[in-house]
Amino acid sequence: MVEIMDQKKFNYYIQGEKNKWEVIIGLEVHAQVLSKSKLFSSSSTKFGADPNTQVSLVDSAFPGMLPVINQYCVEQSIKTGLGLKAKINLHSVFDRKNYFYADLPQGYQISQYKNPIVGEGKIILDMPYGSKTVGIERLHLEQDAGKSIHDLDPENTYVDLNRSGVALMEIVSKPDLRSPDEVSAYVKKLRSIMRYLNTCDGNMQEGSLRADVNVSVRKVGSKEFGTRCEIKNVNSIKFMQMAIQYEAKRQIDLLEDNKTIDQETRLFDTKKNETRSMRSKEDAHDYRYFPDPDLLPLKIEKKLVDTIKKNLPELPDEKKERFIKEHNLSLYEATILVSEKEISHYYEEVVKNCDKKLAANWITGDLFAVLNKKNLSISKSPISATNLSSMIKMISTGKISGKIAKEVFEKMQSNNVDPHEIVEKEGLLQQSDPKALEKIVQEVISKNLDKVSEYKSGKIKLFGFFVGQVMKVSGGKANPQLVNNILKEKLK
Ligand code: ADP
Ligand code: MG
Repeated sequence: MVEIMDQKKFNYYIQGEKNKWEVIIGLEVHAQVLSKSKLFSSSSTKFGADPNTQVSLVDSAFPGMLPVINQYCVEQSIKTGLGLKAKINLHSVFDRKNYFYADLPQGYQISQYKNPIVGEGKIILDMPYGSKTVGIERLHLEQDAGKSIHDLDPENTYVDLNRSGVALMEIVSKPDLRSPDEVSAYVKKLRSIMRYLNTCDGNMQEGSLRADVNVSVRKVGSKEFGTRCEIKNVNSIKFMQMAIQYEAKRQIDLLEDNKTIDQETRLFDTKKNETRSMRSKEDAHDYRYFPDPDLLPLKIEKKLVDTIKKNLPELPDEKKERFIKEHNLSLYEATILVSEKEISHYYEEVVKNCDKKLAANWITGDLFAVLNKKNLSISKSPISATNLSSMIKMISTGKISGKIAKEVFEKMQSNNVDPHEIVEKEGLLQQSDPKALEKIVQEVISKNLDKVSEYKSGKIKLFGFFVGQVMKVSGGKANPQLVNNILKEKLK
């Protein structure tokens, strides 16, 4: 089977033995709310603690214990909803989702079913072929379960309840995604928005962001969706993409063999790169959802929503617009510079003091090349924003040439000092003294009298040769504009 990326329409297809297929994907992302304490108890949510050291009587479901809603988690989910341009429901309900598992001591998960805290919203993806809007179905608050550890002992399973009761936001997309690339862009954008908002740290290694990936296929041209399978709990973008590719091909094989797809829950085996059936898909009624009698419906004051809205930080889409309009950046530069909160902060720190367009060039070009090579994130940049800014300012004010700047930049990588210091110590200041430059020009001319007469008899291409010679003699430090002017004058 071949995957096809239609370059004209930018559609992703899979060519089966008989037909061309389209892949339909919808994501249920579980994002851990950034909060010091859990959704219904005051236990810590800190990552990496010893097993079962962050468990209160509520989290371990001792009889008679009552949940108390954490107002901060509610505010965090409202904030996230607003960031997704979604409707905030002033009335929502916590339900019990009943099932049995050893890492779920309550015997049910407190979640939201019919009345979630956040309704429909959207996320805009920046794809190479333009922007694409993906619908958000809902966002609801729920508790995380504990963790069963099966591989510590050959005979026993251990349970760690540190995660039990941690607040999660489940963010459900509409089935609007059409390729593994769009899924990657979607997760990155959602993660970026939450990190701008400070509502989820997005750390996938620590399990702060996982997704259930729903996949179905349909023949190109068909309007109806096919039966979907849900791949549970995938915790990296790469694995999501691999799982989708595997799963779509598996479904196409079955359908082209005139078999049917069973709607089921599958898991992705990262070692074998395949999805495997876990269980047939449970229906909502299997969970016996009912409103949690220990919790009142959640009433939110409109005033609270308004206050949160007023205090929202500038989000990536708005920032991008502003950078294009006010800083004269290209769509490409602006998209990269807002893609992560830390990158945009770095850029904004740099441009406080220097040319904005030039700063965008240096950051997306030279700086990113260095970071990629050293596999560093921008917060670990070997060159501080302040120093990069000073260097760029030295270019704009003519203190150093663009060429020398490359040299200074190189030196700043190993020695993050004020570039003025480097320029001074190494004598790299641009030569802009007309007298000194005239002397060099004169020297070059008298050494190349043959070339001068060739030039004067019409071989004007030689002008570049003279410029090159002057630059060489000056050690690359001559001000190119001045050199041009002086040469033109002398060669007249
Ligand atoms: P459940 O909670 O039972 O998993 P939901 O109605 O909440 O079901 O939908 C789960 C996800 O499945 C949503 O993200 C939705 O976009 C996606 N989805 C629904 N139908 C399809 C389909 N035919 N193909 C792919 N994804 C789908
Ligand atoms: Mg689901």
